[in-house]
Amino acid sequence: KGGPVEPEQVVKKYLENVEKPSDEDCIICMETLNSQSGYADSSESKTIKPAAVGKLKNCGHVFHQLCMLAMYNNGNKDGSLQCPACKAIYGEKTGTQPKGKMEIFLIPQSLPGHQDCGTIHIVYSITPGTQGPEHPNPGKPYSARGFPRHCYLPDSSKGRLVLELLKLAWARRLIFTIGVSSTTGESDTVVWNEIHHKTEMNSNITGHGFPDPNYLDNVIAELAAQGVTEEGLNA
Ligand code: NAD
Ligand code: ZN
Ligand code: ZN
Repeated sequence: KGGPVEPEQVVKKYLENVEKPSDEDCIICMETLNSQSGYADSSESKTIKPAAVGKLKNCGHVFHQLCMLAMYNNGNKDGSLQCPACKAIYGEKTGTQPKGKMEIFLIPQSLPGHQDCGTIHIVYSITPGTQGPEHPNPGKPYSARGFPRHCYLPDSSKGRLVLELLKLAWARRLIFTIGVSSTTGESDTVVWNEIHHKTEMNSNITGHGFPDPNYLDNVIAELAAQGVTEEGLNA
């Protein structure tokens, strides 16, 4: 997977130059596209001009190039870009999940709503540690509550597909992040990151249990929103 890439190279890789920008607003800085970037004064870029405008190659959304650069530099700089207008992902998005373990077991018992198959049991283990440069408060400790966390999927063909996508999301550090828990209000702690898991096997007291006929399709869509798709499994 190559070494770190210069931020300017990432911006240039996914943006096409726009020669005659329109008078619409750049949604990053709110200045018009035919005037210079709102980040021109704070940018130290030597190769991107203050008024340069670029169009994202697949979705076609248009921004100042320095605004894209500022947005990229403000993130975890993993070589990928996400369109701030439509959330399309360019490259391979990775997250800030701290180190830990993902284990998989099979349970010979079915889940409510999935009577015809057994159950996949996922166990995530994360222990407390010190935040890295990619986290909200580098150098400060983070807590890890409620680990190991136990999660369940039906052992059906769609459930096994979700399992493979979750393994890819884990490898890309997208399952958990460090932030503020919306359940407890605690900050600097390990929290779920927009990919819902079912943490109750035989009941649904928390709302994170079965039956839920839409769960597998919903989580496939949540994974896709993070750039984790079937295509990535074959890559
Ligand atoms: P959070 O509360 O910040 O929520 C992030 C996402 O996780 C939200 O989308 C939310 O809907 C989902 N979520 C919330 N509760 C869930 C649950 N029980 N099962 C599956 N998804 C859930 O996320 P968080 O701080 O990671 O907390 C989520 C859960 O973690 C808590 O409900 C609890 O089960 C566990 N937890 C346990 C302790 C403990 O001391 N035992 C402490 C904190 C959290
Ligand atoms: Zn702008
Ligand atoms: Zn877009």
